[in-house]
Amino acid sequence: MSDRIREFLRNRREDGPCLVVDTAIVHDNYTAFARALPDTRVFYAVKANPAPEILALLARLGSCFDTASIGEIEMALAAGATPERISYGNTIKKERDIARAFALGIRLFAVDCEAEVEKIARAAPGSKVFCRILCDGEGADWPLSRKFGCVPEMAPRVLEHAHRLGLRAHGISFHVGSQQGNPEMWDRALATTAAIFREMAERGIHLAMVNLGGGFPTRYLKDVPAVQAYGAAIFESLRKHFGNRIPETIIEPGRGMVGNAGIIESEVVLVSKKSDAEDDVRWVYLDIGKFHGLAETIDESIRYPLRTPRDGDALVPCVVAGPTCDSVDVLYEKTPYMLPVSLEIGDKILIEGTGAYTTTYSSRDFNGMPGLKQYTI
Ligand SMILES: *Cc1c(COP(=O)(O)O)cnc(C)c1O
Repeated sequence: MSDRIREFLRNRREDGPCLVVDTAIVHDNYTAFARALPDTRVFYAVKANPAPEILALLARLGSCFDTASIGEIEMALAAGATPERISYGNTIKKERDIARAFALGIRLFAVDCEAEVEKIARAAPGSKVFCRILCDGEGADWPLSRKFGCVPEMAPRVLEHAHRLGLRAHGISFHVGSQQGNPEMWDRALATTAAIFREMAERGIHLAMVNLGGGFPTRYLKDVPAVQAYGAAIFESLRKHFGNRIPETIIEPGRGMVGNAGIIESEVVLVSKKSDAEDDVRWVYLDIGKFHGLAETIDESIRYPLRTPRDGDALVPCVVAGPTCDSVDVLYEKTPYMLPVSLEIGDKILIEGTGAYTTTYSSRDFNGMPGLKQYTI
């Protein structure tokens, strides 16, 4: 935890769980991405944490923005990004939203099928499009399903359709799965992408850009490779598959940009057992759960580091649950979490690595509980 966050929490008087994000860490992360991939433009995935202070900082540092809706486009513009630094990267868009984005100056759109190409040709004529291809997400802790992207064999047809309709067939995108622990996972997707570039060139259409997506991890309980390792592996794959004709590249980090910049402070509401049996597991209920920011504990995929004021005392396995009246609101049960036996009601719990995908996943009024509060310092 940074000294600034520690100091902030020491002085905070309000009640309730909160996320504190240290923008100095976001600044460091941006610099690390820019250094690790020096010829690559950074498009921050706004959905990871759209706090105005974070967007404004990144805009000032020269970042571009990957957005998924008119709301996110407006937030990026309000933060000071110009339209040519914003992509509309969602493959699923209403035609009237495409038209609104076009009116706001957006000229770069994602597609993964011909129907979406046709919407863009009508509502955003002459724009650049890139085609998202499916990626299996192997090796990722939060893999993305088959929801986005087409099979690679279909991409040339989609892009040729765009070309015929007067759009600029700009490139290919993929996402290797979020919290991707293996820097080598970009290699196969880049081999496939290079093959699509060659096939398009044979059709007389010269693609220019590869969107390498997100997937850069943040540290939870396990160590993860540094961003330099990702940069080196990606550059090597680009050389291997594109030779000395490396295309323009962009990355879309979300988690890797803000995950480690935030800490949630929460409180133990109850510690209990379900029976008198000696070996019965303890239940620890926090004032935050799946519905107020910790949605990525679904299937216990993301295991956050929990810090308590009693770390160092003997540990016991605990089921960790949230405060709402929904029985799904349990964070860790299949694999119980080791917590101090001395833990007490009212103890503050720090949940680390929570700068990404928390506030945006928080419901607002479920059981009358407010959405997760964020302080950006
Ligand atoms: C969510 C998203 C990202 C960010 O992914 P991370 O794994 O958080 O880096 C990047 N690109 C697109 C298209 C996304 O939807």
